[in-house]
Amino acid sequence: MTIEEQIKSLQDELRQHNYNYYVLDNPTISDYEFDMKLKHLQELEAEHPEFADVNSPTQRVGGAVTKNFETVRHGHRMYSLDNSYSKEDLLDWETRIKKLVDGPVQYTCELKYDGASISLTYENGNFLRAVTRGDGVQGDDVTANVKTIKSVPLQLKGDYPPKFDIRGEIVLPFEGFNKMNEERVEIGEEPYRNPRNTASGSLKLQDSAEVAKRPLECLLYNITGSGLNIKTQFESLEKARAWGFKVPDAAKLANSIDEVLEFIAYWDVHRHDLPYETDGVVIKVNSLQQQDELGYTAKAPRWAMAYKFKAEQVSTKLLEITYQVGRTGAITPVANLEPVELAGTTVKRASLHNADQIEKLDIRVGDTVFVEKGGEIIPKIIAVDFTQRPLQSQPTQYITHCPECQTPLVRQEGEAQHYCPNYNGCKPQIIGRIQHFISRKAMDIDGLGGETVTLLVNAGLISNYSDLYELKKEDVLPLERMADKSAENLINGIELSKSVPFERVLFALGIRYVGETVAKKLAKHYKTIDALTKATSEELINVDEIGGRIATSVISFFASDDNQEIINRLTSFGLQMSLSEEQLANQTDKLEGHTFVVSGVFHTVSRNELKKLIEDNGGKVSSSISSRTNYVVAGDNMGPSKKEKAEKLEIPIISEQDFLKMII
Ligand code: AMP
Ligand code: ZN
Repeated sequence: MTIEEQIKSLQDELRQHNYNYYVLDNPTISDYEFDMKLKHLQELEAEHPEFADVNSPTQRVGGAVTKNFETVRHGHRMYSLDNSYSKEDLLDWETRIKKLVDGPVQYTCELKYDGASISLTYENGNFLRAVTRGDGVQGDDVTANVKTIKSVPLQLKGDYPPKFDIRGEIVLPFEGFNKMNEERVEIGEEPYRNPRNTASGSLKLQDSAEVAKRPLECLLYNITGSGLNIKTQFESLEKARAWGFKVPDAAKLANSIDEVLEFIAYWDVHRHDLPYETDGVVIKVNSLQQQDELGYTAKAPRWAMAYKFKAEQVSTKLLEITYQVGRTGAITPVANLEPVELAGTTVKRASLHNADQIEKLDIRVGDTVFVEKGGEIIPKIIAVDFTQRPLQSQPTQYITHCPECQTPLVRQEGEAQHYCPNYNGCKPQIIGRIQHFISRKAMDIDGLGGETVTLLVNAGLISNYSDLYELKKEDVLPLERMADKSAENLINGIELSKSVPFERVLFALGIRYVGETVAKKLAKHYKTIDALTKATSEELINVDEIGGRIATSVISFFASDDNQEIINRLTSFGLQMSLSEEQLANQTDKLEGHTFVVSGVFHTVSRNELKKLIEDNGGKVSSSISSRTNYVVAGDNMGPSKKEKAEKLEIPIISEQDFLKMII
């Protein structure tokens, strides 16, 4: 054997042992033998660096140090999941599904692992990259750290596709977690609170050799990519397993919601025997074709549903109610609790939402309350334990004045929230609004963070977002912890934001109820800020999906002289206050007033491109056929019941080609 062959053969052998041990839980050699072979390989690779391989088993020991984790955009967005808590919720979901797809629906039931979600990219069978979920659109590149997790295959086996992403969860099994804690206590450190936070914290450690010491595991459940030749979710789990991934074998197929409920009932009891934390079950429509038809909401797939196991509950004492002021001036009451352990974390605060909620619970300082933690990070107060109420207890008086600026609060008819109306003089509002302005989905100003905004406002350097554009490097340099380089980045970031497109500027203004989607709609419809400023309430309401509440808020925003002045300044600084030439060029009114339903598989354009074309040309996309539908654009495999419905309502069914002709 040549040296190269020796190295290759040792790599293969160790890879197989790794797999046996960490994926199959079935080692066939002793740890000692393994270590000896690994050491031998390390020596050979060190002597012959020309044969080293970034995905060699020797690379799992770590050593690479990451100072800053690079931000990476996900090839496909990582969505969150909708939650359900009862049989009724699941039946409702089934009803919604059956409206949108035809034929029988099968479900894959999986456990919902409670860890840190991760996306792994493979190319030609080699592990290329690992990225955290982040905000779903982009996450942090944690490749060096994930490489040290032994159940993550660095090289795949079998008949894998040339390129794909696979998603899963990095978990810390209880046993390893407890062991880590024992060691920490021994050296006089605080024990970690819970496995999930420790798992996600581990991914962000700078020294990968430290990560290598932690007994993390990676459980996989979702393959994404194109040309995969996979037809169902269940099949994808089997394939992933065959390629060498650790895919838990709890997954099961169900033919009905009743069978799903059986799965849930079983695991509600048996989950306590699992080596790691689970907080529910994830149910997915099995057919990928049906998944495609169902698509996504802004936040989650319509084809999947999480079922949360009943949350744990504890009781504790309410010490005080404090009030927070948000960027829109909305007041949120917060319950300050006697610290209590709940589902692995210490709970000290809980949101009370609004005055109605306080009244409904009849909650008072000094009360003993029941606190519950569902999947959410923020715990909820479920009820007051009236048997424990102190005799002299008095009903809670909601505040009448802003805790920050003492302005009398207002509460509009039909609204749950109290507001501080001191729009331009209330600190948290001023700061919050600027923080929103610079945030990633708005102006996305690099080099400027929320805390710096607070510093800038407190130093009197800015009092609204238009002031940002007059900041000079000399102004910001004296700020706390502001180095020369960061001051420069800040100023550059502000300058660059001048090219952010109009719809995001509109969103950044922070008009109440104008979120991302509404901002897009308004930008598209009015095209310039001047036109929008002049819009009347009736006109606004006539814009698709704009209701009275939004219209009133938009009108009152532009009616303010202060806001007008700010907008004039932003315009003079060169921000995008209208759609660009390019945006305008792609948009027409050709489909104005027409509603389309899209069904089946397309060839020239993808389903999403088709929808975008409809919207760009002024049409509307709807997900189900009704008498208000004008056209059904049908691709291959259009569902028979959709077809029947369209025919019954005499709605024209057109092909992809017919459609494309409409917009030329
Ligand atoms: P949530 O964060 O509560 O919206 O739930 C969504 C998250 O559940 C996903 O981002 C995954 O990280 C996690 N998850 C755990 N197990 C599964 C599973 N079997 N299928 C899909 N997602 C899962
Ligand atoms: Zn105020």
